[in-house]
Amino acid sequence: MDQNRLQTFNERINDLVDDAKEQPIRKKKEKVNLKPSIYSLEPHELKQWLEENGEKAFRAKQIYEWLYEKRVKTFEEMSNLSKALREKLTDAFALTTLSTIIKQQSQDGTIKFLFELQDGYAIETVLMRHEYGNSVCVTTQVGCRIGCTFCASTLGGLKRHLLAGEIVEQVVKVQQALDETNERVSHIVIMGIGEPFDNYDAMMSFLKVINHEQGLNIGARHITVSTSGIVPKIYKFADEQLQINFALSLHAPNQELRQKLMPIARAYKLEELMESIRYYTNKTGRRVSFEYGLFGGENDSVAHAEELAVLIKDIKCHVNLIPVNYVPERDYTRTPRNKIFDFEKTLKKHGINATIRREQGSDIDAACGQLRAKEREQETR
Ligand code: SAH
Repeated sequence: MDQNRLQTFNERINDLVDDAKEQPIRKKKEKVNLKPSIYSLEPHELKQWLEENGEKAFRAKQIYEWLYEKRVKTFEEMSNLSKALREKLTDAFALTTLSTIIKQQSQDGTIKFLFELQDGYAIETVLMRHEYGNSVCVTTQVGCRIGCTFCASTLGGLKRHLLAGEIVEQVVKVQQALDETNERVSHIVIMGIGEPFDNYDAMMSFLKVINHEQGLNIGARHITVSTSGIVPKIYKFADEQLQINFALSLHAPNQELRQKLMPIARAYKLEELMESIRYYTNKTGRRVSFEYGLFGGENDSVAHAEELAVLIKDIKCHVNLIPVNYVPERDYTRTPRNKIFDFEKTLKKHGINATIRREQGSDIDAACGQLRAKEREQETR
């Protein structure tokens, strides 16, 4: 991977942020004395911490069992650990860094959680129910600095990155809620608030913890990460050689239209983006999912579908068509049903695998692109 590309990333993003006249990060509270979340630690890090604190490394396995199999809510409950170790853990780590402010259930079974973080910011997490299992849509940042013109998550800019443990704990909290009915979180989509590739290291630690057999043991093929298209990170992710599903928010078949919808396209041109996608599919042998939101009158004609088919014809892929979800601050309109089908048919005619995303949770603002930390937004401005 070209180092120059990596170095220019921050400069390019900062240009975008300046353009948008946004402060990249706004602080809510002055200084909060935060303890690190125990959920941030990968097994080898926990072992290292134990050894540095005069404990045996094998305790890591026991602690992981308490955290991810028994899902205890206090260190005190870890009854096969010595009292001294439980005290050391309590002094060093937080076990709960998210508190549930709201748990809202949709008519279709979707549940949206609003969690408060230790510094007072709020984030959203969504549980979706499918025939194949229960899927959790996790948030990776408080806000977002990518600025997509159709998305609610980016409206207030970026407040801060989430720590790995704060991402892991979202899944633990949802699993604890499902424990009441003996159900299991089987799938994860990293498609909540934020741009996961803008918080890359935390996202990677999160993946390692939830995927680990002593962790939540969620199979890589049951996990999907989605990016707006931060090209250097696409190369980096391809080089990780993971079995995780990879989705790209494409939304347009040409540069002009893409940069109108997504300012990130000014930083990374469509041509270099598609080159990075080809690198990904060649390197991993896996297909990519293209997310394509249908925004009424913008990118949803049969001619656009034809152009899209040409753009992606030699790429091993699947296209996920997302009918636009209404965001009050944005004035995009919905593509009529019959036009959505025409778009899909056109892609299929060219041999491209395409499906229309089923909408879930729209009655509780939990649908794609609608997430925002509503209740807290005002306070943090
Ligand atoms: N930042 C990542 C993760 C967000 S995933 C990314 O951009 O991929 C959420 C998906 O919903 C993305 O494809 C996003 O572009 C799309 N989306 C955002 N706002 C939307 C809206 N109002 N209607 C439909 N899809 C939307």
